[in-house]
Amino acid sequence: MDLGQISNAIGSVLEVLVAVCGAFVLAFWLAIIIWTWRDIRARSRDVFAAVLALVLVAIFPLVGLMLYLLLRPKETLAEAYDRALEEEALLRGIEEQLVCPNCNRVVEKAWQFCAYCHTQVKKGCPSCGQLLELGWTLCPYCGNPANVPKVRSQQELPPPGVVNPPAPRPGELSVTDLPVVE
Ligand SMILES: [Zn+2]
Ligand SMILES: [Zn+2]
Repeated sequence: MDLGQISNAIGSVLEVLVAVCGAFVLAFWLAIIIWTWRDIRARSRDVFAAVLALVLVAIFPLVGLMLYLLLRPKETLAEAYDRALEEEALLRGIEEQLVCPNCNRVVEKAWQFCAYCHTQVKKGCPSCGQLLELGWTLCPYCGNPANVPKVRSQQELPPPGVVNPPAPRPGELSVTDLPVVE
């Protein structure tokens, strides 16, 4: 074995090493590009941004990847969708709270009148007693008409046209004590 054969052997070993390293770097580069493509597609619908990220990472594999990691959208599309759903549910919960139309304070679902300003917010069904919205004309629970709103102030006031007779002063005869003249 002379010097030439030894150098040839070293040369072929080096060639193999370079080839293996080159293949490894190539595979790594391709893996970074594929990962970036998948990641940007999960985070953005913008095709232009996706291609830009891809080109950046393909031309400058390590620096480009670092830049991409710094600049990419924080949320994936699935995360953004979940957050939107949560916000919607939260909003619906707020909307479901009943509010007095007069004073805007929260009223319980079982209240017929606002506890703060005494405005009627619901009416009881005259047939079955279930609480109904003021605008309903039919009770959905028993099927009877429910278009007569029971307003408390009207119950307390005497019907119009009827005036109570004045109470008799002491020592004076009241109207009912007078003899009836035929
Ligand atoms: Zn009120
Ligand atoms: Zn009813």
